[in-house]
Amino acid sequence: MLQIMEARPDWPMYVDVFELPSPRLASGSAIWSDMTSVDTTEQWREVSVDKHHTSDPTIRLPGFDLPCHTWSLMNCFQTGQDPCHANLHKWSLVQSPSCDCGQQQTMNHTVDTCPLAKFEGGLNPLHKVDNDAVIWLESTATAALTHTHTPV
Ligand SMILES: [Zn+2]
Repeated sequence: MLQIMEARPDWPMYVDVFELPSPRLASGSAIWSDMTSVDTTEQWREVSVDKHHTSDPTIRLPGFDLPCHTWSLMNCFQTGQDPCHANLHKWSLVQSPSCDCGQQQTMNHTVDTCPLAKFEGGLNPLHKVDNDAVIWLESTATAALTHTHTPV
């Protein structure tokens, strides 16, 4: 089909197929400039931020069957985008980045060092989503991240 189209530059679709626009961004390349076959699973392994938690993107992560709130909170801790007061303050949603213990409430503070909320063993055991992790997520972490601070 391409050979037939290539021989007919007067056809309207000729321009669409053979006279492609150049990429708009210097940093990127147009998807049509590279038509080689790609192993998306291998590509995922190379770039995924989650590659430390699973080696196969097709299997369910531990805790996948948790209730939505718990699963969502777990994912927040895995991505570092948890609703801690430091993030909420950065996003102008609360006035103070402080934890109830008085220190700045970041994800690492909540999991590793907070005297009121830390998870024994830290972030890596939390990612295994065992029974202790589920209990911590549903009680301690949820309570620690409850927004008792005044909204902006
Ligand atoms: Zn704290």
